[in-house]
Amino acid sequence: MAKRIPLKKKYEYMTRGLAWDTTYQDMDDVYPYDKFEGIKIHNWDDWVDPFRLTQDAYWKFQAEKERKLYAVIDSYAQNNGQLGLSDARYLGALKLFLTGVSPLEYQAHRHFAHLGRNIRGTGAQVSAQMQSIDELRHAQTQIHAISHYNKFFDGLHDFTHMHDRVWYLSVPKSFFDDAVSAGPFEFFTAISFSFEYVLTNLLFVPFMSGAAYNGDLATVTFGFSAQSDESRHMTLGLEVIKFLLEQDEENVPIVQHWIDKWFWRGHRLLSLVGMMMDYMLPKKVMSWKDAWEMYFEEQGGALFDDLGRYGIRPPMHADVATKEKDRISHEVWAIFYQYTHAAGFHTWDIDDEHKAWLSESYPDTFDKYYRPRLDLWQQMAADGNRYYNMALPQLCQTCQIPMGFTEPDDPTTICFRSSEYKGDRYHFCSDGCQYIFDHEPEKYIQAWLPVHQIFQGNCGGAEIPDVLNWYHLNLDADNMAYEGSPEEALWNEWMASRRVGAAQA
Ligand code: FE
Ligand code: ZN
Repeated sequence: MAKRIPLKKKYEYMTRGLAWDTTYQDMDDVYPYDKFEGIKIHNWDDWVDPFRLTQDAYWKFQAEKERKLYAVIDSYAQNNGQLGLSDARYLGALKLFLTGVSPLEYQAHRHFAHLGRNIRGTGAQVSAQMQSIDELRHAQTQIHAISHYNKFFDGLHDFTHMHDRVWYLSVPKSFFDDAVSAGPFEFFTAISFSFEYVLTNLLFVPFMSGAAYNGDLATVTFGFSAQSDESRHMTLGLEVIKFLLEQDEENVPIVQHWIDKWFWRGHRLLSLVGMMMDYMLPKKVMSWKDAWEMYFEEQGGALFDDLGRYGIRPPMHADVATKEKDRISHEVWAIFYQYTHAAGFHTWDIDDEHKAWLSESYPDTFDKYYRPRLDLWQQMAADGNRYYNMALPQLCQTCQIPMGFTEPDDPTTICFRSSEYKGDRYHFCSDGCQYIFDHEPEKYIQAWLPVHQIFQGNCGGAEIPDVLNWYHLNLDADNMAYEGSPEEALWNEWMASRRVGAAQA
């Protein structure tokens, strides 16, 4: 009788053992993409697969998760789960997340498939292929949540169309476009390491706890289902970095630059999450500042101590990101509050209880800098003059966020940088964004900046209703203040009929 093959051997036969080097064609012609970035790989077999998942095990495991997930999604829909939300304001955070992130999951699906084909090295191919399928699943599960909430609430009716057009969605879109138009090793460093490993806890932990605190079981469910995939992706991110650094010393400075670049790009992208955590969750989880301290300063600090032995230092501008921890959420909320008339979700005036929480969470900055502005806006709204900013903002050429961030050492002065390239001047929100541009100007001068596009007449017309039309947004329903919106009216009606129901019972 044949002896049982040990798991490790079996895994080798089922992966490395199935690969071969080409003979009729040169390997470099078959794999044209994995050398031009200057990364040197001497032995692909050094690539470690910590999970040792074979295809059969992968599909069995994922199918089990899908069965559970769809059972919960069905019961949520049948039981009108949306009635259990903490408040309809919570939907603002959800809309931003679902419209901003779901298309990125799909982009990740496509690009990991591309890597699975174009990276030589079987271990890397298998990991990329599995992650590609995971990401497709994530996109699908999030679209199920969109589909459910779209039956009742505004702003979720055309997310793919919006993703290519709406001004603030160009922030996540351009982040991912940047990554997929880079070489394969930069993509791994950008997405698998910088985003999935270093920064993902700042997105998923607060957002999923936020969903749980605020009664959003649809999101909690897809979050849980994605979590075990996510731990695989994070491990891959760390393994990729170690692999690149161990293969050749000359890889170190290349990887360091990518870490510097993608740390800053990720930090800017996550300022949207900071706003959600501090301003958009009716029931708070933790402040952005606390999350930054826990997940970046502590955990990230330990990680970069560990990577020090390869000659890697903490990301450039990490000190600036840390200085910004008690302001970015307030700065970004201020941007969205002013431009709610052009957004696919509502903003609102902040009540006293919420202000007290902000004051406690941000003792050094809130009362001094941000409370007075919120008080003024609240007063203006009470006087029937709710503030909307009718001038289009200048955007940062790199991160594409309106220029609302401030000087590292002065929270009262807008941070403004500019560079000249081929006779044109480009503007940036920070040293980090300027640094990224200066390194690859040919790439970023091509950026599709929403405000420039509006001014050039490429977005449906010159007036706000024209642009909203072109975005497929419905004026007075999807946008404007929450106070007085159809969504508020619907929510209040639901809650009132619930009280009547409870009184009769
Ligand atoms: Fe994903
Ligand atoms: Zn920027």
